[in-house]
Formats: sequence, structure tokens, C-alpha cells
Amino acid sequence: MISATAPINVPIFRFAPSPNGYLHLGHAYSALLNFDMARAAGGRFLLRIEDIDAARCRPEFEAAIHEDLAWLGIAWDAPVRRQSEHLDRYRETLAKLTGQGLTYRSFESRAEIAQAIATQGSHSAAWPRDPDGAPLYPGRGVVLSPAEEIRRAEAEEPFAIRLDMAAAIRRAGALSWLENGEGPEGETGTVTAAPQAWGDVILARKETPTSYHLSVVIDDALQGVTHIVRGQDLFWSTSVHRLLQHLLDLPQPRYHHHRLIRDDQARKLAKSNQSTALRLLRAQGRTPQDIRHLVGLPASSGLD
Ligand code: GLU
Repeated sequence: MISATAPINVPIFRFAPSPNGYLHLGHAYSALLNFDMARAAGGRFLLRIEDIDAARCRPEFEAAIHEDLAWLGIAWDAPVRRQSEHLDRYRETLAKLTGQGLTYRSFESRAEIAQAIATQGSHSAAWPRDPDGAPLYPGRGVVLSPAEEIRRAEAEEPFAIRLDMAAAIRRAGALSWLENGEGPEGETGTVTAAPQAWGDVILARKETPTSYHLSVVIDDALQGVTHIVRGQDLFWSTSVHRLLQHLLDLPQPRYHHHRLIRDDQARKLAKSNQSTALRLLRAQGRTPQDIRHLVGLPASSGLD
């Protein structure tokens, strides 16, 4: 069992960005809200760098995260946890799920999965989608023949390690979480987890022994995080996180999903669109108090 290292009863909050672009107003809102809530609760505030995607994460974005947060007036407790430094821990934890018979290797490429769905003809349009809108994985043994699967395994071809969702749910039973914010449809209070909506999620790949879902639950437990404050776009991911927490015997944090900051066309902000990047706004002469105002947070006396 992973045990929390922090003293009991101290609320612990965290901001966990990925260094794959510059922080924008949406990140500023999430980080400031976390920081304000931690201060109001007399708690600790941690920074975690979610950099498992080696192809997209870059040191200059990581340096910019530190710089932009400090500029906003945010201070975090050391040490900063960088996920790329803990791959062995994720590997070991994944082995526990595999030991419970809850994972399997799947060798299909994304294109082969898409192709298999497209051949469903009129059914393909109605193919079930996960809460992010991606078509659900069709299931074990549907896309490749058993012989082809064996051939790829013997040839050591790339694979994904997936959670056997039906088996995992059978083992865990019904789960819920305490939501202090709200979901996309106003869900709040005790929310029933619906991990089946994600199908057999990917937990790791041949070259990367973890995934967002796996490392986030391991790290939140290791860092003793008690309050998870993050955007509504991750609301339904919490179903998978609750399932993994249960299977790995990890503590259950409280959740607060917050509204998303949107652009003029009501679209969610993206790192690829630089117009709301904090460094650009700063270069244009905006102050940290202006940023608070722009995202709808009250002014802070400790800034500027
Ligand atoms: N790393 C995730 C992101 O940048 C956030 C993870 C979380 O807060 O659970 O969207």
C-alpha cells in the first residue's frame, strides 16, 4: 500500500500541468483557485509536472511553468514531483493490477481500430463513444485474430496495456466520489462513478510504463493529496481514478471540478492557441491582478 508522507489532517492541494505548451488563462484560473483554496484551508499547495509524454514535453515549457506561476504570485511547497523520474514506481504499481488478472496487452494500431469500427457499416455512426468523444475500443479479440495477436507478441511489436474494465468493475463493485464543485451537467455531492463509459482504457504502452490515469492516482496518493481541484473537462475521468484507487487500495480524495475558461467563441482554451498565453499577456503589460480579474477571481492582497 502507498502511504501518504504528509502529516494527517493538513489539507493538501496540487496543480499538475503538462509541460507541452505555455500556460494560458485556463491554467491560471486552475492554479490560482487551488492556491487560494489551499491558503483558505490552512493547507499545503504542491506543484507536479506531468511529463510522461516524452515526445511532446519540453524543458523550456517546464521552466516557463515555474516562471509564470511565480509571476502570478503562487508559491508551492518543495519538492516538485516530475513524473518522468518515477517510471519504476508506475511500472511496479501496474504489475499489481496485472497480478490481479485485470490487464491485457492489445496490439492493434489506432488505424486498425478505426478501420474495424468503420466496417460496422451503418452501426459505425452509432458506435459508442467515451466521455471525451473518442470511439470506444471494440474489445479484446475483436480486431485481430488470435493467430495475428500471437505473431505480433512473438515479434515484440508495440502494444498497449489495457484495463479489463468488466473484470475490474466486477471486482470493485459500485463506486462514487464526493464532488464539491460540479460536473458538466451540474452533477454535485455524491456522484456515482461510471468507469464502464471509458471501455478498456489504456494504462501503459510498450515504451511508456504508465498513462495519465495511472500516474495521476499513484501520485495523488504518494503526495498525500486530499483535495483535487481541476477543470470540468476531467470530471468523468474521476470514474476511472476512483476505480484504480479502489483496486490499488489508495485513499479517496475530495474532488472539486471547476468551470472552464473559454474564448470568445465559447471554445475551451488550447495550448496551441497562443492568444491567451500568460507570457503574451504579461508582455502586453497585464499584471497578475489583471489576470485574476480576467478569470473572475477576487483580487488578492498579497499580489503586485
Ligand atoms: N496534467 C493534466 C492536464 O494538464 C491535469 C491532471 C489533473 O489535474 O488531474 O490537463
